[in-house]
Amino acid sequence: MALFGTNGVRGVANKEITPELAMRLAQSLGTYMHEGPGKTVAIGRDTRNSGDMLKSACIAGALSAGLSVIDLGIAPTPCVQFYVREKADAGMVITASHNPREYNGIKLIAGDGTEFSRAGEAEVEEIYFSGKFHTAGWSETGNLTGDSSTGMYMRGILGAVDVEAVRSANLKVVVDPGCGAGAVVTPFLLKELGCEVISLNAQLDGTLPGREPEPTADNLRDMIALVKATGADLGIAHDGDADRVALVDEKGDFVNEDVLLAMMTKHVLASRKGAIVTPVSSSLCVADVTKEYGAELIWTRVGSIDVARKMMETKAVFGGEGNGGLIFPEHQYCRDGAMAAAKILEMVAKGARLSELAAEVPHYYNVKVKVHCKDPRGAVEKIRQKLRGEKVDATDGLKVWYDDAWVLIRPSGTEPLVRVYAESKKEARTWELVRWGEELVKGALDT
Ligand code: MG
Repeated sequence: MALFGTNGVRGVANKEITPELAMRLAQSLGTYMHEGPGKTVAIGRDTRNSGDMLKSACIAGALSAGLSVIDLGIAPTPCVQFYVREKADAGMVITASHNPREYNGIKLIAGDGTEFSRAGEAEVEEIYFSGKFHTAGWSETGNLTGDSSTGMYMRGILGAVDVEAVRSANLKVVVDPGCGAGAVVTPFLLKELGCEVISLNAQLDGTLPGREPEPTADNLRDMIALVKATGADLGIAHDGDADRVALVDEKGDFVNEDVLLAMMTKHVLASRKGAIVTPVSSSLCVADVTKEYGAELIWTRVGSIDVARKMMETKAVFGGEGNGGLIFPEHQYCRDGAMAAAKILEMVAKGARLSELAAEVPHYYNVKVKVHCKDPRGAVEKIRQKLRGEKVDATDGLKVWYDDAWVLIRPSGTEPLVRVYAESKKEARTWELVRWGEELVKGALDT
């Protein structure tokens, strides 16, 4: 059994993600880190009801392994990451991010504030399943203190955007943190940036009454209505732990996340030269914009940790995923919802209305389907044999390139399914390709 998925440990709270699991995971982290005295772990959580229960268990496990703990209370994941980089040796965030209300989970943060590497996760996981924990002697168990991380984090963001430009634009902005952790930062940050802030679902209610945490167009209907009713310049929403951002323009239209990624790529490249990093699943509109500026585009495996590490390695100026997860290296090497919000305001303040900026991005049709499958990796391996002769990129799964399009066939890291993605400029062509990929997967199931 694997403990870690693409983004930490996830499951239904108090059923799959129990206090026992949380405590053992913290003991495992403490065992992994225990060489050298006086190590400190900062622990934050999103607003979900089960957060206090799981956080308490994590604290007990970490203290037992001899780590000292700084309790940050409710804080967005990127806020905990910023804090860890400045003041701790590791971090734990109790969150299920965009997953439905009943879920919770745990993400591990490395000492430099980035997400734990896959190798680090594998080591912690091995300790977890071995049950061989470092147990501190009676006088060496850790101590517990509390701290606030939001002020430092907001100052970091304000130092990395053109505050004067945003302030002078006097933007009216609807903010919908979905009653998640973003509520403790983004509305206040936007006020600092001189915006007229209209907040929605900004009360810290762990039952998440306003909407599901995933910021899709469907889940953001209230925000869309509010943007229209108030004549706001834009609407900004987050997922449950506010590492991602979703956007609605001044007309109340949801801005596709790939288009957001391309718009921001343009905004960054207009003032800085350097490489752009994105996963193989991202849209060609990002490639088009990058080419327009003569910059290099580097494709990675799917997963923000892969994007962040590749950005560090290549000193890229910007990177992100086609799900609203944007990474700004001048602030920190992780997806950052509040930083993204501030940069979006800077882009609008210096550029044009959001709908106009979105219209400048080349349009593609993008389709994703799932095929259920007991052995997703095995199926993709079989397909690999069949694709000899095609132009295939194996960075993550199999990406088949054509002159006008691509198809990506990728085993899920967390669920028994294979994902098939296709993209081209024509809707019919995209469907034709996605159906072809789907048939390949189904064929690999029968043999
Ligand atoms: Mg998230």
